[in-house]
Amino acid sequence: MLEDLRCACEARSCQRTLGEEELMLRMTTDAGERRAYECACGAVTVTVVQ
Ligand SMILES: [Zn+2]
Repeated sequence: MLEDLRCACEARSCQRTLGEEELMLRMTTDAGERRAYECACGAVTVTVVQ
């Protein structure tokens, strides 16, 4: 099964799609999996996958 690692950058002026290449941190907690992406614009986007 393919995991969807993509998400959109949170910065307002940025429309980049973040993927595996931007993924810099992956952490599993009780609340689910957290992923932090660092975009080329410098913004860090954190997502929670349950
Ligand atoms: Zn960005």
